[in-house]
Amino acid sequence: MQKRILIVGAGYVGLVSAACYAQSGSRVAVYEKDQAKRGIIASGRSWFYEPSLDRMLRNLKKTRRMTVVLDPVSAVASSDLAMITVGTPTRRDGIADLSDLDRACRDIAEGLKLASRYVLVVIRSTVLPGTTSELVRRTLERFSGKKAGRDFGLVVYPEFLREGSAVRDTLHPSRIVIGELDRCSGNALERFLKEFYGRDLPPLIRVNMATAEMIKGASNAFLATKVSFINEIANLCESFNNVDVDRVADGMGYDHRIGREFLNAGPGFGGSCLPKDLKALVKGARQFGVRLRVAEAALAANELQPLRLIGLVRELVGNTRGKKVAVLGLSFKPSTSDMRMAPSVKIIRALVKTGMRVKVYDPEAMENAKSLFADSVAYASSARNCVRQADCCLILTEWGEFSALTSGLFVQTMKKAVVIDCRRVLKSLKLDSRIVYRALGIGREASDAIVWRNCTMRREHPNKSRGRRHPI
Ligand code: NAD
Repeated sequence: MQKRILIVGAGYVGLVSAACYAQSGSRVAVYEKDQAKRGIIASGRSWFYEPSLDRMLRNLKKTRRMTVVLDPVSAVASSDLAMITVGTPTRRDGIADLSDLDRACRDIAEGLKLASRYVLVVIRSTVLPGTTSELVRRTLERFSGKKAGRDFGLVVYPEFLREGSAVRDTLHPSRIVIGELDRCSGNALERFLKEFYGRDLPPLIRVNMATAEMIKGASNAFLATKVSFINEIANLCESFNNVDVDRVADGMGYDHRIGREFLNAGPGFGGSCLPKDLKALVKGARQFGVRLRVAEAALAANELQPLRLIGLVRELVGNTRGKKVAVLGLSFKPSTSDMRMAPSVKIIRALVKTGMRVKVYDPEAMENAKSLFADSVAYASSARNCVRQADCCLILTEWGEFSALTSGLFVQTMKKAVVIDCRRVLKSLKLDSRIVYRALGIGREASDAIVWRNCTMRREHPNKSRGRRHPI
């Protein structure tokens, strides 16, 4: 049966979900509080870059299965499902800011008051364990005058999509986790998802609401820890003669207990989820008197990782004042325009502080970059234009178009062909003797190698160690 769905908050999660549900035949009403975003969506476009989303929205505009609404309250009353997909950012003190969630709950509660049918409220925003059964439930009941589990349904349905492949991940998720207040609520969501996924239904588990919230928080904390772990191993690899962290990760990844994904060393994890969710979990745990020391260490390592690059730039260009640095890639990962908590932001601000003249380029994130950096940096119209006359080039995001750049471009257009490739997109440059090529996590030549002996570590005299490989 065709479902009527209200989505509150049309960002990366909300708009992608809305488009996927509408495409499969549901009638979707989208409520977005930001007027400018509403206008863009109503015209059949997305306000952020996500592969294939614009095309879907364009097609949906013709079908009228997805509409932008101005009044969430009356939309609730005519919906089967009301999904909350608003942001849950962290405040400066690391605590989750739930003001958008609170507002959304109040709007939905006002709608529940008017509803004469059973409406299932679905929490998709990422929140700490216990938030839905306490704060969300209380707000919904208080402002609707109705009882959760009796008059309306309530579930936590955590989202695991990845920006850059959000549509694909929504259509083919790794798993579905339903956190239910009661069986009736869980059944209602399971029925909808079984219809939506049909034969492609992924593994589905049903748990209570706090467990579902914990699964989401723990998953993100684990992924973030994996990234910080390999970044620290990469830093150690650099101390050895020709040890490449990519090969180390390959060797580790064949072990199915470890897995190869999220073992790519780089300038640190960013984006709207991992840093914020990890911080919120660490802070939240402390409120229960629990220290998450591993997660804390992952966060601390991630704070330092982008700044290691500044040392490397200094080492390669010498006096930085007035030197030109080209930064290729600004979004926190390829195939998205999202720069929230991207390592590029920290790195670029630090480069500007060293007195360097920074020029930046990204295939999709230039608008976001302009609002973040204003006139403190220069903006290039292409990668080619960005590296021209630069003393050093930093590649921070593995956009496909960067892998097509040739060594000739760097040699002929840069003042000095110095390339720091943080994402291994141009490995072949390493072979070109005209280019100073550095990647994170590759050991230097033998002169820098560290030798461990009798469990003590000391640097060998450069002449002695030259040409010798460390026996690991
Ligand atoms: P987002 O910032 O892209 O989108 C949230 C949208 O909600 C914004 O457009 C905002 O204007 C709107 N909004 C806020 N309050 C509103 C209200 N009261 N009524 C109507 N609209 C409102 O956020 P996002 O990246 O889509 O993330 C949403 C939630 O999903 C977060 O909790 C996030 O942690 C979680 N999540 C995000 C991702 C991701 O990759 N982005 C993945 C999984 C989970």
